[in-house]
Amino acid sequence: MKDNPAVSINEIFYSIQGEAKNSGRPTVFIRTAGCPFRCSYCDTEYAFTEGNNIRINEIISKVKSFKTNFVTVTGGEPLAQKNIILLLDTLVDNSFNVSIETSGLVDISAIPKNVEIVMDIKTPTSNESSKNIDNNLTAIKKTDVIKFVIGNEDDYKWSKKFITKNNLEHFENIFFSPVHDDLKISSIADWILKDKLNVTLQLQLHKYIWGNERGR
Ligand code: SF4
Repeated sequence: MKDNPAVSINEIFYSIQGEAKNSGRPTVFIRTAGCPFRCSYCDTEYAFTEGNNIRINEIISKVKSFKTNFVTVTGGEPLAQKNIILLLDTLVDNSFNVSIETSGLVDISAIPKNVEIVMDIKTPTSNESSKNIDNNLTAIKKTDVIKFVIGNEDDYKWSKKFITKNNLEHFENIFFSPVHDDLKISSIADWILKDKLNVTLQLQLHKYIWGNERGR
């Protein structure tokens, strides 16, 4: 690679994807370091400050060593990294099936079109919902994923209203993900069924397998 800048990386690991459309699939995770936000329920606070600058060709070599096609770039907030678009492009050029998990609080429009976006809409319990970027709903593709992390019934009602207000009723991939250990899964399941919502209940599979163990 002619220009081979670095990205600040917290960890690169191989695990089971626990979220969204590829839940259950063995995947390599590239966790970038740093996040300018502070969601109340954040489960990766260790990524705020722990990171090493790693050059993109070294990241690609490490990812290749796991011999799997599925790669998820996560954080922290990966879009807060200066060279993240080059990393995404390089992963795509190396024929990986690439997704990115982002907060929804940073502009997503520069993400390459063949990268699947899993974008949060921050709900009130996150304490960051005032920073959701409206234009991201225009930039997101039909095949991408919108995720609401639900902390309580008020978050659920807020998310339902958000979907209606933004004409997202027919968006194919909307996931409702209860905050692990905070909300009874049967409660949110009952609310979704009662309201006949066109959303998918997501359970963060990795937490059922390994709890909050790091690097999983
Ligand atoms: S945006 Fe993500 S990484 Fe940043 S504080 Fe919120 S949950 Fe944590």
